[in-house]
Amino acid sequence: MSAPVKKNDRLTVYIEDLTHDGNGVAKVDGYPLFIQGALPNETAEVHVLKTLKNYGFAKVVEILKPSPDRVEAPCEYFKQCGGCQLQHLSYEGQLKWKENMVRNVMQRIGKIDAPVLPVKGMEEPWQYRNKAQIPFSSNEAGQAIAGFYKTKSHSIVDMERCLIQTGEADAILAGLKKELATIGIQPYNEQTHEGMLRHLVIRKARATGEVMVVLVTKKKKFPQKEAAVGTIQKLVPNVTSIMQNVNSDKTNVIFGDETVNLWGKDVIIDTIGDVRFEISARSFYQVNPEQTEVLYKQALDYADLQGDERVIDAYCGIGTISLFLAQKAKAVMGVEIVPQAIEDAKRNAALNGFTNTYFEAGPAEEVIPRWYKEGKEADVLVVDPPRKGCDDALLTTILEQRPKRVVYVSCNPATLARDLRILEDGGYQTQEIQPVDMFPHSTHVEVVTELTLKERS
Ligand code: SAH
Repeated sequence: MSAPVKKNDRLTVYIEDLTHDGNGVAKVDGYPLFIQGALPNETAEVHVLKTLKNYGFAKVVEILKPSPDRVEAPCEYFKQCGGCQLQHLSYEGQLKWKENMVRNVMQRIGKIDAPVLPVKGMEEPWQYRNKAQIPFSSNEAGQAIAGFYKTKSHSIVDMERCLIQTGEADAILAGLKKELATIGIQPYNEQTHEGMLRHLVIRKARATGEVMVVLVTKKKKFPQKEAAVGTIQKLVPNVTSIMQNVNSDKTNVIFGDETVNLWGKDVIIDTIGDVRFEISARSFYQVNPEQTEVLYKQALDYADLQGDERVIDAYCGIGTISLFLAQKAKAVMGVEIVPQAIEDAKRNAALNGFTNTYFEAGPAEEVIPRWYKEGKEADVLVVDPPRKGCDDALLTTILEQRPKRVVYVSCNPATLARDLRILEDGGYQTQEIQPVDMFPHSTHVEVVTELTLKERS
């Protein structure tokens, strides 16, 4: 296909869809144009920026007929910052779009007919993130800047606040960069590998209010340590833990291997439902605990536990779902590929006094078949795989072992639809599909699905 438009053309188009990056999609004689800032159901005059063989890019000159769901993005940095993609769409509109997107993907990719329920959203979809990782750098005038990255880039949008982060993160964003020069700490420069402060990470436990601040520095030794601790305490008076992580490498990975305590406790404690979790500087933890609880309650509901079931939690991470299920199950076995996460899962199980959990590090697709061989069977199997979906070997094991229920938690509707098709063809019935909005103002959507075994005819 050759492009029906060329660079610098101006034309009027109707926007049909929205991509995963939050760009509007219009079709010109079937040729897709991706248009930043345009929303579905809008008519816009656009300026073509670039054309490739199968698709092109354009920018909005003027929205001629706005979507009824269009709103003024509340954040002043929205256009530059890569953090949110959908602030120009009302929250209602976002939820509606996510629901339709899941429904379309289910039908198109998996031919799955099970009902897709309306997305469970947040009542107050702001300040929901419990972790901010703020890169520090300096501008041409040598002043410290801090903020979040531009889309697909490593340049920092200097900002004073972020509407989806906590007030504590804002206090650091606005306050610390002003104080850095006074304290005498140089922000790190990625190009020259000079300077000291690379990132500041803030984590807040929603349930207990405990706050951890982690300074990621180029070197372990820096003379302004005490001044930095004092300034952080002044900016974030409710801080309970101040840690330092040392990262001396030329890398854009945030953390280095060594973490030391500068002040206060080494961990913060949070709870999801009635389960307590210990969070250290580097441990994985869901970033929106309020919605995580909604998601896990739904998973628990779909698992339909009566108390005598044995459950396998595949891709269990730090055991968040496992421990949630362990409250209602006879036994839960969790498997996860990252050994450190399994250590966290075991510690959190002990912290909560669970004696009916077992965790093992390894690939789910190898460990679970072995468990079955050893006679460790499950009545209910929960999977929460990464974006690429379940490994084929794991799906095969499920179809061979036929647990009576499967609960599939997914962060990628496309691979979910593909895997549901395989499970349906192998004897399962998808009962219900419940999307949950874990990341308001982004295009992400989390989905939890209930599958039951069909009667064999
Ligand atoms: N259920 C967890 C985390 C899910 S994220 C929670 O709710 O917090 C997906 C997890 O799958 C990640 O922790 C990742 O490390 C793990 N993973 C990726 N490939 C895997 C594999 N082949 N076997 C087991 N775990 C894997």
